[in-house]
Amino acid sequence: MKSFSIPEDFPDRLVNSLGECRRLFGPAIGQDGVCRLTLAEEWKELSPAAIPLIPPKKMLLPPNDPLWTLTEDIYRSPAPPEPAALIGIPPCDLYGLAYLDLAFAEDPLYTRRREALLLVGAACTPGPECFCPPRREPPPFDLFLDDGRIWSGSPAGDGILAALTKELGEPEELPLPDGVLGGEGVRPPEDLERIFHASLHDPLWREVGARCVSCGACSAVCPTCYCYDAVDEALPGGEVTRIRQWDNCFFRNHALVAGGHNFRPTRSERLRFRFEHKLLGFGTLRGVSSCVGCGRCGRACPVDIDISEVLARLVSGEGT
Ligand code: SF4
Ligand code: SF4
Repeated sequence: MKSFSIPEDFPDRLVNSLGECRRLFGPAIGQDGVCRLTLAEEWKELSPAAIPLIPPKKMLLPPNDPLWTLTEDIYRSPAPPEPAALIGIPPCDLYGLAYLDLAFAEDPLYTRRREALLLVGAACTPGPECFCPPRREPPPFDLFLDDGRIWSGSPAGDGILAALTKELGEPEELPLPDGVLGGEGVRPPEDLERIFHASLHDPLWREVGARCVSCGACSAVCPTCYCYDAVDEALPGGEVTRIRQWDNCFFRNHALVAGGHNFRPTRSERLRFRFEHKLLGFGTLRGVSSCVGCGRCGRACPVDIDISEVLARLVSGEGT
């Protein structure tokens, strides 16, 4: 992969240059110690590769997302997205976006926003709760920064570097930094599908489900959870807007259907459903794990339910 050696002030210049034509967001740790994706103008405002509490999905799938508005028989689509860039994004969040790219490949609102979004990744140091699995493919990015080097991962990245790196000399073909292709995290076993099916009545789900309070925090902070509901907001003048709103498979109403039937009425069933969805995928993405091992769900859970621990117990047969 094409890589340039860069001087210390290069990230400042890169951010200044990108900021001329797009809004910039990146992880920044506030005075309260919480990392958030924040609007930024300078590199020094950012905390590169820190894991923001709410992941980048909020920029592509906002919590309240108007899909269309109907006024006097005329449908209007949302305004085109403005160019933006995510700067200093850790590899796990780039892999999270790779999963959303698959899941929303045919969603016009998502794909338009994604095309308008430049990704600048940054090498991370895994924290104690991270368990990113080993990867075969690099994550999607336009540019990727590490101490003293930058990589280009797309034609857009090539174009930006061509304008900024004239004085830097020739690029080298170098692999991405250690750790970008995942770490030592739990890799789900090949026969996880069989293990999951066999675990339908496993006491593990009852035990962990009894601890779960269905708050939904784990899904809200997960970079690849995207359950949503569609609600229509009608104004007195006759205008109607359909809004895609974040929903949560831990909420009792999520699987409630007409007639009052609920496909997953208990917390244990909802917990097992989410874990199955995370580790095995569903629909056309069955077989594709959507857990990138960021550790957010374990940190957010008020009763310390950790997906890697539950997976390890499930696979080891403990609790069956
Ligand atoms: S399930 Fe947990 S560890 Fe896995 S991607 Fe979601 S928040 Fe991160
Ligand atoms: S954060 Fe913990 S308690 Fe809340 S829904 Fe998720 S697993 Fe249950």
